[in-house]
Amino acid sequence: MEKWRKLMQKSLTTVDQISKALDLPKEELAGLDKVFRIKVNPYYLSLIKKKGDPIYKQVIPDQAELKDCDLESDPLSEEKDSPVPSIVHRYPDRCLFLVSPDCASYCRFCTRKRKVGNPKKINLKFIQQGIKYIADHPEIRDVIISGGDPLMLSDKQIENILSSLRKIPHIQILRIGSRVPCFLPQRVTTKLVRVLKKYHPLYINVHFNHPDELTPEAVKALGRLADAGIPLGNQTVLLKGVNDNPEVMKRLMQKLLQARVRPYYIYQADMVFGTEHFRTRVEKGLEIIKALRGWTSGLAVPHFVIDAPGGGGKIPLLPEYVKSITDEEVVMRNYAGKEFHYRQAGSQSKPQSCVREILAEMLIGESDLTFN
Ligand SMILES: *Cc1c(COP(=O)(O)O)cnc(C)c1O
Repeated sequence: MEKWRKLMQKSLTTVDQISKALDLPKEELAGLDKVFRIKVNPYYLSLIKKKGDPIYKQVIPDQAELKDCDLESDPLSEEKDSPVPSIVHRYPDRCLFLVSPDCASYCRFCTRKRKVGNPKKINLKFIQQGIKYIADHPEIRDVIISGGDPLMLSDKQIENILSSLRKIPHIQILRIGSRVPCFLPQRVTTKLVRVLKKYHPLYINVHFNHPDELTPEAVKALGRLADAGIPLGNQTVLLKGVNDNPEVMKRLMQKLLQARVRPYYIYQADMVFGTEHFRTRVEKGLEIIKALRGWTSGLAVPHFVIDAPGGGGKIPLLPEYVKSITDEEVVMRNYAGKEFHYRQAGSQSKPQSCVREILAEMLIGESDLTFN
């Protein structure tokens, strides 16, 4: 059996196993497997340094999950944009294709709790239907393969899905959304990468939330994917007690770039039941973007977005850099808060006659400009 499968078999999935492994009183975890299923594989478990740290919080359930069960089970109203069970088709030219119910560990803040971990909701049986839907919709040029985590499927299953999609003439690009490089880098085998690289242009968006997740193993897995020519992006969820701190986020983005991953999105946490304790105020995300833009490489600055409740899709939010815009000029502030003026095109533009003065300023004689 492959090494990663053996690791997965040793995952903790019950309250009893968690309380034993982390030496927690059982009462502390009572009833928590009822809200959302538990899974922590031994690799990710080994990254926990102490109770309540940013790694712990992402995968170990908390009593706070029981407090807000009146929040949504489908916060992004995906069901209403779901023509068949495996497809979410919200935007004009691209769709989500949900192919795997499993993940390498379960995030406590999962936005798709209603489906993830439940093979009745995401199932290989639905895949043919999804492929048919995509083949029947020529406006779709970009398919985002997601779940659950697509890389939890076998190499063969992944190959079947990718090759079926590649046969559809209107599909220009394929994307995989996966937390495997973070949760279980051992899954990124040379064999898997050999399969993936046959289906270019293929993009992968990974999911890292904290700089401590970029271990040597994870960096190696990312390097293998990058070496296979797969452009890598990262999606981070803004989470209280995990990464709601500009310094932590800056370190995360810089470490991602060193691993050849381009930060893509920071998501405001969705309003899913059992996750109120993870939500931050929206100003926190703006503060983080402000602390990145200009202060570090532009490549390290992702878009901060809120996926709008009710199915509005992702909406970008930016700190206020523009102070005013008139017909004459734009007044704006730079990253350090200093004010600058930019004259609008067409306003008080310098008359033609001053060309001569400009040339004089530049110390160029007219004779220098003629051909002889
Ligand atoms: C996020 C998402 C996409 C992809 O959005 P991009 O901005 O193109 O990355 C597509 N469909 C749905 C339903 C999504 O939630």
